[in-house]
Amino acid sequence: MVDFEKILGTIQEEMSYRDVSGKVASYIPELAKVDPKKFGMHIYCSDKNNYGFGDHEENFSIQSISKVFTLSLAIKHIGSKVWERVNVEPSGNPFNSLMQLEQDKGVPRNPFINSGALVICDILVNILDNPKKELLDFVRKITDNNSIDFNEKVATSELKSGYRNIALVNYMKALGNIKSDVDEIIDFYFYSCSLEMSCRNLAKAFIMYANKGVIPNSGEQILNPSTVKRINALMQTCGFYDESGEFSFEVGLPGKSGVGGGIAAIHPQQYAVAVWSPVLNEKGNSELGMKALERLTTLTGLSVF
Ligand code: GLU
Repeated sequence: MVDFEKILGTIQEEMSYRDVSGKVASYIPELAKVDPKKFGMHIYCSDKNNYGFGDHEENFSIQSISKVFTLSLAIKHIGSKVWERVNVEPSGNPFNSLMQLEQDKGVPRNPFINSGALVICDILVNILDNPKKELLDFVRKITDNNSIDFNEKVATSELKSGYRNIALVNYMKALGNIKSDVDEIIDFYFYSCSLEMSCRNLAKAFIMYANKGVIPNSGEQILNPSTVKRINALMQTCGFYDESGEFSFEVGLPGKSGVGGGIAAIHPQQYAVAVWSPVLNEKGNSELGMKALERLTTLTGLSVF
């Protein structure tokens, strides 16, 4: 039996000695204001036991981790039709690359880079009357927590400086891979990225990806096992920008990171884990977060490999 509580204590202590050399994301002005010293981690196990430390109860901006939720919602609504508009290959390029999108003729490499997530937002804007409400309802249901919300300040701050994302969506519109109104898609995308959650809530939200699509409290099947298999495969191969190989190598779990400094990851049948430390490495992943997860899979002996 793994003693998660003890292992988390060891990780907290080890990380307190480490220096970080990266920076907090500053291209979204609101994110630049976050205290770089914040650090929290929470594990939610399949048997519902859960453990955390540090700032694990504090809300932070989940940013691109929301791409897992929007993708889940799109597949729930239109199933495998999603894959007619977005591919499933790792990008090996920065998450907001325009060059790659041009090479790929407007069909994004995968749903976790920005262009791919914008196509997913287009799908949702196109089929739903109120995509923001549906997304909130979805996240609130899987966490069993109605207080989860968007942060309007963060969404507006990104809208004012989100030129690259606006360029990506316009470029895809020009090539015929965007159906809805560009402004509506951008608005929905920035709101999705502005979702705020604590490590505790994020770990709980991710446990269904460890449990074949079943949520813990009600036992309801939210996603079918085959959808979960595919989403986990994408998290494993594409969840960490152009550092997905390194994350697999060091940590060995399917997961997704965001430029708010959060990472959520799962071990099938065992646990979901969320970690938050806002200082990012060169590729845009949480520096301390990655290290903490490497220690977790090493100390528990529980990675998927
Ligand atoms: N809202 C951010 C962007 O579109 C998300 C980036 C991220 O977390 O990867 O640039």
